[in-house]
Amino acid sequence: MYFHNTFINLPKDFYSLSRPAHFANPKLIKFNQELSQSLGLDLSSKTNEELAKIFVGETLLEGSEPISLTYAAHQFGHFVDQLGDGRAILLGEILDPMGKRFDIQLKGAGQTKYSRNGDGRSALGPVIREYILSEAMNYLGVPTTRALAAVLTGEDVYRETAIPGAVFTRVASSHIRIGTFQYFAARNDKNSLNELLHYCINRHYPEIKNSENLALNFLRKVAENQIKLVSHWMSLGFIHGVMNTDNMTISGETIDYGPCAFMDHFNFNQVFSFIDRNARYSYNNQPKIVVWNLSRLADCLIPLMGTDEESAIKLLNDELSLLSAFIEREINQRMSEKMGFSFESGDEKILKAWFEYLQTENLDFTLSFRRLSNLVEGNESTFFKQTPLFEEFKLLWRNRIKKSSSLKVKMDLINPLFIPRNHQVESAIQKAIKGDFSTFNDLNKVLARPFEDQPDFKQFSEAPTSEQKIKNTFCGT
Ligand code: AMP
Ligand code: MG
Repeated sequence: MYFHNTFINLPKDFYSLSRPAHFANPKLIKFNQELSQSLGLDLSSKTNEELAKIFVGETLLEGSEPISLTYAAHQFGHFVDQLGDGRAILLGEILDPMGKRFDIQLKGAGQTKYSRNGDGRSALGPVIREYILSEAMNYLGVPTTRALAAVLTGEDVYRETAIPGAVFTRVASSHIRIGTFQYFAARNDKNSLNELLHYCINRHYPEIKNSENLALNFLRKVAENQIKLVSHWMSLGFIHGVMNTDNMTISGETIDYGPCAFMDHFNFNQVFSFIDRNARYSYNNQPKIVVWNLSRLADCLIPLMGTDEESAIKLLNDELSLLSAFIEREINQRMSEKMGFSFESGDEKILKAWFEYLQTENLDFTLSFRRLSNLVEGNESTFFKQTPLFEEFKLLWRNRIKKSSSLKVKMDLINPLFIPRNHQVESAIQKAIKGDFSTFNDLNKVLARPFEDQPDFKQFSEAPTSEQKIKNTFCGT
């Protein structure tokens, strides 16, 4: 028995039963053996043909009970009261050797009850993209869903043109989102909300199980994890691109690698997503948006606070009012660590001078942080243009760090050399569409060790030339 399912025991309107579509001729692109082993999912005896059938949904492993989950969401600020997994099918939950529970979900395996006009399928591009980015994120040390497999379905999907179809297998500590709460809150369904709250606490936050105010403590936990997550993104120049409330997990893992991107040259207001026309989810807006999203979760928790509505709102608002300062502190702390010191009040001016310099000179975010460690011992670097802004920054910074040879090592351990650069990911996608997975495989390999110098893969560390620069990303769904 591979699966030990619990979500399916929740009331019927939490999900609907789903069946993956039939794919006669699936072909394995990649199976993440290492992840599979760490999950205790022993498929070592399976051939590639068998794995392809499993991860396209053609063969169901013992104990699988495929379902698609219900949720609602604020999408770009507008509430939609009925969404759900339109192209995702949860095969079931597994327990790893430590007893930790994970969802195994197929994306792109066919229509579900929630597909509306969509075909429930995925094109190869988004599958390649999610595979590379989610695994890279994991090796960068950021909580994230993982990639277990990618399979070609053997059929084309139709977007603007015909493109090979593929199925992505996602592993997540759960797929419950803020939008899952919003679904029941929108229906004034207090019983389901209460059931969902207890389920989430049991699964993700058992340490608060016996606390007095479950709903308030739950909000606190989710807020802590989501804020730490977004601070971590900020410190890596990551722009999620579609922080709708259905794309923010209760667990605090990064989910939904649609139009996301790591920025190359630094720009506070950077947006990549083609559909984010009002720049709602720009780099610099992410901290505000996570707090806004958490406020939407708090709205759902009002009826579960065990007090009258007015007191409930006051208690929740008091909690929410702490979050902006919390995320600012977290970001300052992360950025300072990247620069070799521990944040104290007054250090804002060093960070400000640094980012102003990067923005003015159009410098690469990742490489600038990485190269900074070369300056620790008083050396100069040709990477940085010696402008008055830079001199101003350097003076402040040098007075602030404690120079030592170990500081450079410490900084290099948290400032990656390799990130999944948009132009490289795009090149991996374009080649994959032509049947060449070499760049896809190389990228996966190099991004598994993002903090190490890997001279053989130098080209993957380089910033794009102006011709290579990608200006927009598309979900391609
Ligand atoms: P996303 O942009 O991935 O967060 O998706 C938003 C909503 O659209 C979710 O409910 C998805 O399940 C649904 N969706 C996206 N692409 C498709 C598709 N090809 N077929 C059916 N539903 C889809
Ligand atoms: Mg989504």
